[in-house]
Amino acid sequence: MPLPTFRVELTENQQITPKVHKLVFKFVEPQHFTYVPGQFVSFILPHEGDKPLKRSYSIANLEQNPENTQHLEIVVAYVEGGKATEFFFNARPGLEIDITGPFGLLYLPEELPKRVFLIGTGTGVAPYRCMLNQLNDYPDTEFHILFGAQYEEDMFYLDDFKRAAEQDNIFFHRCLSKQDPLSEGCSKGYVQHKLESFDPSPETDLVYLCGNPNMVDDVFNLLKDKEFGVKQVKREKYVFSKY
Ligand SMILES: Cc1cc2nc3c(=O)[nH]c(=O)nc-3n(C[C@H](O)[C@H](O)[C@H](O)COP(=O)(O)OP(=O)(O)OC[C@H]3O[C@@H](n4cnc5c(N)ncnc54)[C@H](O)[C@@H]3O)c2cc1C
Repeated sequence: MPLPTFRVELTENQQITPKVHKLVFKFVEPQHFTYVPGQFVSFILPHEGDKPLKRSYSIANLEQNPENTQHLEIVVAYVEGGKATEFFFNARPGLEIDITGPFGLLYLPEELPKRVFLIGTGTGVAPYRCMLNQLNDYPDTEFHILFGAQYEEDMFYLDDFKRAAEQDNIFFHRCLSKQDPLSEGCSKGYVQHKLESFDPSPETDLVYLCGNPNMVDDVFNLLKDKEFGVKQVKREKYVFSKY
């Protein structure tokens, strides 16, 4: 069965950190799109030859209702010599392109344990931004959002995460591996160091990992040593495409 395809038009392309662009699209045909926060879409990029050039991006929308939305927001990190990077970083409003989706299982189930860790490096926090409005549905769960980057200037969507963290059960942690000195509210090191400080346990915790494949593997191995199984760790690796 062919995958559902949507035509979207670029309405905004903004550099939001030295290496990240935010792109906003409106749905042209069909004009509406329904997804579950945490999912991703695939863009079908212009290409030469027979093989379609597809690249996936997490849905970063922040909205109350993910049903029949009319827009799509993504964040794209710079990759040297990258085909999609070149395409997206130079794209101008008005550009039309096809996407398929939504895909992925990195969403919140109906029931959650006592603590949930939402861990992302770089653009890997996009799906968590998309989930922020949903977190209100789980007043008995403590959410810890761990955002990892090298420097403070590499971080984005901070106002959204900080606003969410005004709620008693939501905590936002910034982990910076190279920043010196550190601003208030940030800690030095990798997300895995921060996670260890919470003494995670498979009895009480569910962990989400998204972004750089090395980070996802490192944290998963750390959790396996603490008796976490695949059901207690949800993973979305931003693996590179083969062509
Ligand atoms: C489910 C999923 C969701 C994703 N969501 C996002 C997202 O929200 N935001 C986002 O920015 N990316 C995301 N990605 C990654 C994205 O799909 C592309 O792989 C990425 O943008 C690079 O594509 P490119 O065409 O620019 O580079 P390519 O032309 O594919 O690669 C160019 C060269 O760089 C290498 N390379 C590719 N990516 C990296 C990297 N990250 N680090 C180091 N070397 C690299 C390749 O091996 C190749 O040699 C996601 C991937 C998956 C699978």
